[in-house]
Amino acid sequence: MTALTNLLDLDPAQLVAYCGELGEKPFRAKQLQRWIHQFGVGNFDEMTDLAKSLREKLATRAFVASPAVISDHTSTDGTRKWLLDVGQGNAVETVFIPEENRGTLCVSTQAGCAVNCRFCSTGKQGFNRNLSVGEIVGQLWMAEFALRKTKGIEAGPKGERQITNVVMMGMGEPLLNYEPTVTALRLMLDDNAYGLSRRRVTLSTSGVVPMIDRLAQDCPVALAVSLHASNDALRDGLVPLNKKYPLAELMAACKRYLEFAPRDFITFEYCMLDGVNDTDLHARELIALVQNGSNPVPCKFNLIPFNPFPESGLKRSNNPRIKAFAQILMDAGIVTTIRKTRGDDIDAACGQLAGEVQDRTRVQERMQKMTEYQKKFGKDFGRIVEITS
Ligand code: SAH
Ligand code: SF4
Repeated sequence: MTALTNLLDLDPAQLVAYCGELGEKPFRAKQLQRWIHQFGVGNFDEMTDLAKSLREKLATRAFVASPAVISDHTSTDGTRKWLLDVGQGNAVETVFIPEENRGTLCVSTQAGCAVNCRFCSTGKQGFNRNLSVGEIVGQLWMAEFALRKTKGIEAGPKGERQITNVVMMGMGEPLLNYEPTVTALRLMLDDNAYGLSRRRVTLSTSGVVPMIDRLAQDCPVALAVSLHASNDALRDGLVPLNKKYPLAELMAACKRYLEFAPRDFITFEYCMLDGVNDTDLHARELIALVQNGSNPVPCKFNLIPFNPFPESGLKRSNNPRIKAFAQILMDAGIVTTIRKTRGDDIDAACGQLAGEVQDRTRVQERMQKMTEYQKKFGKDFGRIVEITS
């Protein structure tokens, strides 16, 4: 017997091919795609304009499912975080950040991460595995329709869209899980699925240079690059990947990417670490790096106050330091924002899971899992950050 196909794993072209294998015309794939990604329907019986014979065929060969939700918490500021089970004791998180004119979903692309940046709790877990297309796009699928349900908004294109922006800034290095990430991106952009514009989808990378070039050709969305250091010696110690792709190569790749990018700047993320990378000297070195004489990289800076976790041995820069650092960049004409943390209260709420869930047997199960995950991912598992721009 062949395994069932999760239709969330298929991009538009693959769904057409899949329908072809079932002897169906391409427009059926379009219908199916709309049912799944625009109406959030996973049960073939509810897809009423498909022939009964096709629905029956699908039911024996396929299914539609995102990873199971382990926990679902909403912060007092409206930030909502889901912890998703991706099997074998691995979990990833998805975070929704509502703002006045947009709703941003922060998605994960891997369980764990191999890059092992010094300041990152995901990196400290090591690499577990790549997420599949269905597990990546399934985060958007699950979150969009869960949010609509909570607000009583109808599914389908007529209902108000809750997620207007996606950032690949959750767990994992998206460019080290390249094919599934790009396929998921294509679905996010497809008009018969989520129809997001390229400008509203941002991929964040620690700097996998050859893959930045491939992304420019395959699916150029907005790009954020995790810089975190102003020179190679410092970056080698913070982002080990720098030894392979040092700053000069990374800057050159950013410039090449901009020829294809939907925005005319790269966002540089910079995690503010007390006494490590946050002095005036570092700021000035950064300016020299990105301005590079007469050959600058058009960019914005996003300073991220470090979210501490015990094993890191690092501290967050204090607020006046972060502001002073930002000011030096701004005085040099570089647009700079400081990310503000949100949803701080949700982590505490994780420990209060029992009070929230009605079904008592499942509470026990979930609590056990929670302890296991916290042991594995640390109590600060889950960074919730927002770009204030
Ligand atoms: N792997 C990708 C995307 C996920 S990380 C990348 O590194 O870009 C998303 C952002 O959060 C990155 O800029 C990352 O450096 C930052 N980050 C990781 N750990 C952090 C921490 N403890 N505090 C603040 N920011 C952190
Ligand atoms: Fe991986 Fe990004 Fe964390 Fe570095 S910061 S370990 S690349 S998830």
